[in-house]
Amino acid sequence: MICLFISAGIQGVYALEDTDYPVLVSMPWDHSPVTVYIDEVNVPEHYSPTYSEQVKLAMEYWENGGNGHLGYDPEFKLVDTESEADIYLMWVENLEKNTGAGNGVAGFTRPYEVNGKYVRVDIVLEVGDYQGYAWRQYGDANMREVAKHELGHALGLGHSTDRRDIMYPTYDQKDNVNPILVEKTRPFIYFAVIACLFIISFSGINWLRYRGKRRSLENKLFGDKNGRS
Ligand SMILES: [Zn+2]
Repeated sequence: MICLFISAGIQGVYALEDTDYPVLVSMPWDHSPVTVYIDEVNVPEHYSPTYSEQVKLAMEYWENGGNGHLGYDPEFKLVDTESEADIYLMWVENLEKNTGAGNGVAGFTRPYEVNGKYVRVDIVLEVGDYQGYAWRQYGDANMREVAKHELGHALGLGHSTDRRDIMYPTYDQKDNVNPILVEKTRPFIYFAVIACLFIISFSGINWLRYRGKRRSLENKLFGDKNGRS
């Protein structure tokens, strides 16, 4: 059974006071280091070998304090196989095409949570997007920023309302929340998909166009409650 659940994320996150940084889980990992597997084997056509370096730099960003909103000091360790990994990071050519994600979604993070702790996080990033009719591959700087943002989710952070923050812009889409009762311990397994429209503001598209894209996605998901055409 799939329970489709769309959170009141947008209003909920924005309703927080500025001093309350939105956190998904305050201490999501019960061990350290957190292991990361970067899938450089199953890569899409326009994958650049320089992207994995950007992920490593993004890991260092958080190890060195990140945006200052983590209540703990994370440590990452790269591993060679997916089976050893807490965080599995992979690329696809285009999220809209490959996963049916909404237009403008550049990456998503899917944490699997058991009893309030993450047991695994999947991160999927796209390597480029259609802008108008033209395919445009993301550059390294773009990829690094998106990797920082998605790793921020994997460390338990939500979306910031501060436009200068790496965890902005906020677009909090939770779906496929699928409670499974597991035999024996019967923990509550929960996963949320956090889709991120993050890249748009970094890729040279002006803010108005970004806002338009975001609004159309919001309308699609939440309905056009204002009767806007
Ligand atoms: Zn995000």
